[in-house]
Parts: sequence; structure tokens; C-alpha cells
Amino acid sequence: MTTHAISPLSGILGDAFACECGAVLAGRMTAELHAAENGLCTVCLGSTLEDAAPGLRRGCTACAATGRRKEQITWQLAYAEAEQLITMSVVRGVVAAYDGPFHLSEIADSVRAGLGLPTGRLPVGPRVRDLLLELQAAGEITMLSAPDEMIGTDLVLYRDPQWQRAHTLGL
Ligand SMILES: [Zn+2]
Ligand SMILES: [Zn+2]
Repeated sequence: MTTHAISPLSGILGDAFACECGAVLAGRMTAELHAAENGLCTVCLGSTLEDAAPGLRRGCTACAATGRRKEQITWQLAYAEAEQLITMSVVRGVVAAYDGPFHLSEIADSVRAGLGLPTGRLPVGPRVRDLLLELQAAGEITMLSAPDEMIGTDLVLYRDPQWQRAHTLGL
């Protein structure tokens, strides 16, 4: 059985990729198509890693670092389901109960418990994080936590960020 794992071809002008099966793929689109046809994740092209920042590679978040298209699709469907269930009003309702600081994990746990979701079935954390970031962008909550990790000068990773409702900060 031929194995497929696609990696960028260095030393060639433009976007070119080479697959373990011998195929040379010109352009990102062609590489993604070859990945999809062969059951590989179209984000990491089967490498299981993604470039979070220059010099920092981490497990691909699109396919749960499996490199496989099946997991990527499962994850996309699960995220879409989480989007339907976990709405802005759900998260806003949970946040309203906090007069002090709260962690992403606390809100995610409350949402999961409130909706009666079993742990691990849906990506509750990533969905809740996206909504909290929207609330933050709208100025309703303020991020309090110091970054857990700085990468270079402009990328910061927060493992379990902490926020507080803006009007409870007394600013
Ligand atoms: Zn191939
Ligand atoms: Zn992937």
C-alpha cells in the first residue's frame, strides 16, 4: 500500500509540495486536493503538525493531530454542532453569574453541565473560547491573565485565559 504524507518542497520557487508516493504537487490547492483524495487532513496535509508561528510547530488542531481526513471531518461536524448548541446567549448567561474573574475552563464546564453534554463529545472549550473572545472584542469582558507563553514578539499563547466582566472591574 502506498503511503502519502505531503511536505513542502524547498528550493523551488513558488508553492510546491512533494508527497511520499512520488507525486509533485504544484500549489497549495493541488496539495490539498491530493490530501483529500488520499484521506489526509487538508490543513496539515497528513504531517499531523501545523505551523503556529515561525519556528513553532504543534499538533494540528484541525484533525486532532492524527493527520487524517476522517478525524478532520469529524472535528468539523462536532464543531458545527457545538456552534448550534452553544450560542452567544448561553455563554453570556453563564458569564453574568460571575462578579469576579473567571477562567475559560470554568465557563466551559458550566456550559457543558448546563447543556448536559458528556465530556469529550463536543469541542465545548474551543467554541466557548471563540465566543468569549467575541465578548472581549465587544468590550463586555476584559482579559486579565498574563500570557502563559510568548512566542516571538507578536504571538501569545494562553492555556486557560482569565477574564472579568468589564463593568465589574470598577474602571
Ligand atoms: Zn501521495
Ligand atoms: Zn491535520
